[in-house]
Amino acid sequence: MNLILFGPPGAGKGTQAEKLVNHFDLPHLSTGNIFRANIKNETPLGKKVKSILDSGKLVPDETVVELVADELDNEKYDNGVIFDGFPRTVGQAKALDQYLEANGKKVDTLVTLDVPEEELVNRILSRGQGRTDDTPEKIKTRLQVYKKETEPVLNYYKEHGIVEEIDGVGNVDEIFDRIKKAVS
Ligand code: ADP
Repeated sequence: MNLILFGPPGAGKGTQAEKLVNHFDLPHLSTGNIFRANIKNETPLGKKVKSILDSGKLVPDETVVELVADELDNEKYDNGVIFDGFPRTVGQAKALDQYLEANGKKVDTLVTLDVPEEELVNRILSRGQGRTDDTPEKIKTRLQVYKKETEPVLNYYKEHGIVEEIDGVGNVDEIFDRIKKAVS
């Protein structure tokens, strides 16, 4: 199963991805985590994207698509994957679909987590992960970028009839139950 976990920053994608990974025994592919690991290890990719992540804007599609395609070549993804934070633009979604199609695969479901904006900001500010992009100013930028560049991905996949909208307010297990129901 190839599943996209979708939603604005702070919607709980990372938390739910972890639970899905355990439940379905699938690998997790978070582009944000990959970028942060590269920044931490001061790799060439990390040096290239650090200022972009710090600003709250998006890494260019070309860089993201190349990274994900390289990653997906790994056989650990052969039986499926939980995408988290990718695709984040319609360009990325189209590139992903092309890649999967060339390998006889497709995105099976997109689960989107609905959370009111006010709660998103509160959640990010209170999770205290020490991320350099978790300041009120950067959160505002990330939410604007989400609306403008990422939300259109929803309409793109709605046209494919694979979108499941989930109420992302409640406790972690409740939300996970909703996701499981939507996916099965
Ligand atoms: P969040 O969903 O809380 O914003 P992520 O870890 O998914 O956190 O992303 C953090 C940052 O990493 C983004 O603001 C962006 O700069 C970069 N990033 C992650 N995934 C992508 C992607 N698919 N396309 C472009 N930029 C990305």
